Amino acid sequence: MVERIAVIGTGYVGLVSGTCFAEMGHQVVCVDRDENKIVRLQQADIPIYEPGLQELVAANMQSGHLSFTSNLVEAVKVSDIIIIAVGTPTLDNGDVDMSQVRSVIAGMAPHLTATKIIVMKSTVPVGTGRWVEKQTRELAPQHAHIHVVSNPEFLREGSAIHDTFHPDRIVIGSEHAESGARIAAIHAPIRTELLMTDRESAELIKYASNAFLAAKISFINEMAHVCEKVGADVGFVAKGMGLDRRIGPHFLNAGIGYGGSCFPKDTRAQLKIAQNVDYDFKILRSVIEVNQLQRERFVNKIHRTLGDLEGKRIAVMGLAFKPNTDDLRDAPALDIIAALQKLGANISAYDPAAAVHASKLLTNVSLHINPYDALQNADAMVIATEWEAIRQLNYNLVRSMIKQPVIIDGRNMFEPKEMSKLGFTYISIGRTALS
Ligand code: NAD
Repeated sequence: MVERIAVIGTGYVGLVSGTCFAEMGHQVVCVDRDENKIVRLQQADIPIYEPGLQELVAANMQSGHLSFTSNLVEAVKVSDIIIIAVGTPTLDNGDVDMSQVRSVIAGMAPHLTATKIIVMKSTVPVGTGRWVEKQTRELAPQHAHIHVVSNPEFLREGSAIHDTFHPDRIVIGSEHAESGARIAAIHAPIRTELLMTDRESAELIKYASNAFLAAKISFINEMAHVCEKVGADVGFVAKGMGLDRRIGPHFLNAGIGYGGSCFPKDTRAQLKIAQNVDYDFKILRSVIEVNQLQRERFVNKIHRTLGDLEGKRIAVMGLAFKPNTDDLRDAPALDIIAALQKLGANISAYDPAAAVHASKLLTNVSLHINPYDALQNADAMVIATEWEAIRQLNYNLVRSMIKQPVIIDGRNMFEPKEMSKLGFTYISIGRTALS
């Protein structure tokens, strides 16, 4: 059945989900309070970098399934299902900042008529669904029937469209069977495991999943330190571990740790959620601490390798928190650059998608979208994001361009022996340094 859907918030999640629901045949209107964003979207001009999204947006606008507006009230009036996908960042005290969700509820609730299903797609603390339902019912006209369903999002930036059409699971938490079934039905063309739960469990599944993935990353990063001390190779250790099906191969890449808009904030939020119910989530506390330390240890490694950094020019290759996105939220590269600058280094940086964005966040960094421009006259090369374009560089040319043939790789992109053969001193994470 074709549904009329309003998606509130056109960030990475809202824009991708709205577009994919339109592609599945639903009638979708996407709303954002940022009018500039809406004006651009109305011309199929995508404000974020996400492979394949531009084409899909344009096609669905053309077919009449997808439209954009900044008028929240009009959008919810013409829709039966309202998906909330606004941001939920963390506050300084670790609590989740729910102001965007609150402002959506306050703005739309008085205008809700008939039966409306509100879907919480934003990552929100456990209990939010219950609170949103109560709050909306209080503010909505008497005759409105409001049901709130939790439907957490698991897409990854950079492969968001693929992830939406091929998720590992769809989780729907509902206290109202009919509404839960209707939200399950809008996903009908997708073939995957459908898990129907209570609302609280659905809300927790999202945080638990991100916390566990973050734990795998911090675990392998701790193992990497042990490997360096005993002369083992963390690549082999991770491979050997990952072949055990109970462990699995994913999220066992040692490096400079996780970043982005989700893991850092969701791990902090889950720690605080536990604290708020008097529980000290010890493992999670360590996961977060190890991740922060990983950035500091990497800077120390660069310092140890290059000596005094005063006046040295370091080319930082990659800024985004991972490849195929322009997202710089909590990207390790930003912390690493700030620390290197503090030690007196001059930074030139390359990123094919995030360099323009980065100009708003970094000072005294020469930013480039051509990798060779960033490497020109650099003393050494540091890898912070594993962009394919970095793998494809001509390393004979790179060696001739940088003053010292030193690569300090925070993402273990290369085989140490290969880089050594090419004449580099190659230092990575959890593997013996070779020169
Ligand atoms: P984002 O910050 O990129 O986008 C949020 C959008 O909401 C912005 O465009 C903002 O202008 C808009 N907005 C805020 N308040 C509004 C209001 N009152 N009315 C209309 N629009 C409003 O966020 P995102 O990365 O898309 O994440 C959204 C949610 O999904 C978060 O809770 C996040 O934790 C979760 N999530 C994100 C990802 C991811 O990879 N980015 C993955 C899974 C889940």
